[in-house]
Amino acid sequence: MRRAFNFSAGPATLPVPVLERAAAEMLDWHGSGIGVMEMSHRGREFGEIFERCEARLRELLAVPANYKVLFMQGGALAENAILPLNLSRGGVVDHVLTGSWSKKSAKEAARYCDARVAASNELDTAPHHRSLPVPASWRLSPGASYVHLCSNETIDGLEFHEVPDLRALGSDAPLVIDCSSHLASRPIDWSRVAVAYGGAQKNIGPAGLTLVFVREDLLGHALAACPSAFDYSVVAANGSMYNTPPTWAIYVAGLVFDWLAEQGGVEAIERRNIEKAALLYAAIDGSGGFYRNPVDLGCRSRMNVPFFAHDERLHAPFVESAAARGLVQLKGHKSVGGLRASIYNAMPLEGVQALVSHMQEFAASHG
Ligand SMILES: *Cc1c(COP(=O)(O)O)cnc(C)c1O
Repeated sequence: MRRAFNFSAGPATLPVPVLERAAAEMLDWHGSGIGVMEMSHRGREFGEIFERCEARLRELLAVPANYKVLFMQGGALAENAILPLNLSRGGVVDHVLTGSWSKKSAKEAARYCDARVAASNELDTAPHHRSLPVPASWRLSPGASYVHLCSNETIDGLEFHEVPDLRALGSDAPLVIDCSSHLASRPIDWSRVAVAYGGAQKNIGPAGLTLVFVREDLLGHALAACPSAFDYSVVAANGSMYNTPPTWAIYVAGLVFDWLAEQGGVEAIERRNIEKAALLYAAIDGSGGFYRNPVDLGCRSRMNVPFFAHDERLHAPFVESAAARGLVQLKGHKSVGGLRASIYNAMPLEGVQALVSHMQEFAASHG
């Protein structure tokens, strides 16, 4: 067996000890004689797995007691509809547009409510977004049911290093964040965030699980058309077991949370993520123009690093030669082209070091 360093944006690399443990327990979980995939979600064994997973997650992200954690399905794209169905009350909601994913969210929300654009970076140097609109410039609608933003744009490589404080902007609307691609890479400031959601397959575990954190006082206002299985109140009242939850993905996510706790928790992993990102951006910026990243220094993503060679004909040979040395999934998203390295929690520093060495050698031999 040969493990590659996998820079995929998602589904993405998982910690090796997690995969080993899942493999070891595959046929017989803790002497039960059955594997997790084969268990009733209502049985005692899975109950234990589920409770431990939620408790660990709450501990790691310091989730306040007045927030529900919902284990759902459908991914962040389904949440783009589920969210307005639950929280818009059919009224006005504000969206901040900062890249591909936040634009998709606004478009979907408009099917269910009056979705307005409070701010956008669309005019900043197309085709690549460079910056995030400064919160003081946002045009927030009075009485909006919520304000939505994407705290890490996976494709464009932009990250809010701090989520804005809406109260400081004169708004008491709840802030909703799509944090799919940096969930658990850093702490969440719950004094500013009312709802957070994300698919698991970037930084948490296998595809199929969507995590939703929702402040309790926002529950109970779903539109009549909201499917019961997607009604946050129904999901919460049933402990995420109104219908069968993605049991295997929850189990593996729980193993990832155990691993994260062993790494020292979210603050410790954040420090390492900062170190890994600094190393990679330094290699790009220090390449004498061979590589470039278009994003302003203050809003570069620590998780998803898009970069471009000075000549686009070099992208394919770069990807190919990287793969030959075990550095895989480095092709940029089809909508922006170029290259992209996703360096989530589970990507070790050695993986980023190996990528940087490859970048330097490639530049030297194609200069
Ligand atoms: C991946 C991603 C999505 C889409 O997630 P699905 O699970 O495919 O629905 C949405 N938003 C962000 C920020 C993402 O990274």
